[in-house]
Amino acid sequence: MLDFRCIPIPTEVGGRWGRSGVDDSGNRLRRMVAEARPAEPDGSRHNGTGAPCRHCLRDAEEGEELLLGSYRMPRPQGIYWTPSPIFVHAGRCQQFARINTVASIVRNRLVSIRAYDHDDQCIYDLGHAGNGNEIDGPLIHALEDRRTAFVNIHTAKPGCMLCRVERL
Ligand SMILES: [Zn+2]
Repeated sequence: MLDFRCIPIPTEVGGRWGRSGVDDSGNRLRRMVAEARPAEPDGSRHNGTGAPCRHCLRDAEEGEELLLGSYRMPRPQGIYWTPSPIFVHAGRCQQFARINTVASIVRNRLVSIRAYDHDDQCIYDLGHAGNGNEIDGPLIHALEDRRTAFVNIHTAKPGCMLCRVERL
């Protein structure tokens, strides 16, 4: 049994953003109110909205206030580094802390898995894109690979970072 955890952004990020009004790149933050998420083309509905908070790792409820800003991802460093647009609750929320649990914001959308080694090199053959409800197999496969230092999970369509995943 492999133990892992989904790693949210540090609590200080939302607090700093809220106080300063700017994101990690100096952009003025956008304040948004979460709206109900429209049904999928097949008629299925998701819980919450389309605004996943990267601190509590849940989709905002309709009416909740969010900050939208550019986050300087801690890893990968170097050639593969990118910033990512993220939502974070404008008010306080509980930082995600469960182990061996795929966060709900991963479950209810199309996602991509990006595995990186200890030198922050992308391991292409462990990459995967698919429905978040069916991500366990590819995720565990990537985490079990001895080359893998960490995995980042992104939304598959816009490409925004959802969370990092590491072995415990
Ligand atoms: Zn939150």
